[in-house]
Amino acid sequence: MKIVTVVGARPQFIKAAVVSRILRKQAEEILVHTGQHHDYNMSDVFFEELEIPKPDYNLGISGGSHGKMTGAMLGAIEEVLMKEKPDALLVYGDTNSTLAAALAAVKLHIPVCHAEAGNRLGSFDNPEEVNRICTDHVARKLLACTESAMEFLKHEGIADRAVLVGDPMYDAFCYYGDKAGMAQNHVLTGFNGEKLSVPEKFYYLTCHRQENTDDPEKLLNILKAVNSLDAPCVYPVHPRNRQTVMALRGEYALKNMVFCEPVGYLTSVALVKNAEKIVTDSGGLQREAFFAGKQCVTVFDYVVWPETMTANRNQLAKPDSQDILTKLSAEQVIDPAYKPFGDGHAGDKIVKELLSI
Ligand code: UDP
Repeated sequence: MKIVTVVGARPQFIKAAVVSRILRKQAEEILVHTGQHHDYNMSDVFFEELEIPKPDYNLGISGGSHGKMTGAMLGAIEEVLMKEKPDALLVYGDTNSTLAAALAAVKLHIPVCHAEAGNRLGSFDNPEEVNRICTDHVARKLLACTESAMEFLKHEGIADRAVLVGDPMYDAFCYYGDKAGMAQNHVLTGFNGEKLSVPEKFYYLTCHRQENTDDPEKLLNILKAVNSLDAPCVYPVHPRNRQTVMALRGEYALKNMVFCEPVGYLTSVALVKNAEKIVTDSGGLQREAFFAGKQCVTVFDYVVWPETMTANRNQLAKPDSQDILTKLSAEQVIDPAYKPFGDGHAGDKIVKELLSI
């Protein structure tokens, strides 16, 4: 059986690392990288560290408006699919790469398998919501991470194509967790290439969604909150908002911040495991905080992973310093028996379902 997998963004590389390892023992996989994330520290480092096979195609498409990017990918992926004639297409998550690949395949009558199906925020204000919904509705197999995702698919009348497999990000966290080691053994890179060490005690921030970073005022509120904590805050800055962060850093005294370039996955996992607490707007990081039992505040208007929102383990906050600090100070309660993201073997189940198409 021949499968084309399309990836393009950081979180998809992590999921592909888990699934490709298993898939390639049982089928031929052609890996297509759209180029959506292309810098060394947003792409290559993941392929190297996680030993992801080299992409068979790199389409080199990134930047521009959502429509332009998605359109360019649609045409380029269609060409690959027409040449390779796979038995099925595998896509992950909710990026423009996901939607473009799904549309290209369905029009060529190639069955689509969507991993991380069924997540809904309930608003098109979030640019990825349309990608999630459209991909799910054209896909043949919907592989959900959680019960709540299954419920959304049921409400939309497409649960007959859905299977609960668990979260491949949890698989990755279990598989690579030990390899990551202590955060203090990792070295961070500053904006001028200087080497920075990870403090003994620290908080971990990631913040890159356009909802929080397009308006510098909102980002500043978030930075002021974490800057006022009782230990330094490590913040690997996404290329999308590097300029804004550099301007704010120059203008305000943010002395308690450790700003750095994006880190590789192993460093990120080590930071999660050793941080005091986590502030993020990332879908992946809020789950990883949960996996590690670290308290998280998610600066976002919508619940993305309802299973994490229990006993103060993950709380939503506005991009408002006081709100973030209040939520961070609430005490979390952990029930070790509560494991809503599966058993760490989602990858096996994804491959099984994919090969059953
Ligand atoms: N991540 C990383 N380096 C960083 C920041 C994040 O390796 O500097 C990892 C982390 O494991 C996170 C994943 O990338 O879960 C997803 O990234 P992102 O926040 O870009 O995407 P989202 O999960 O919001 O779709």
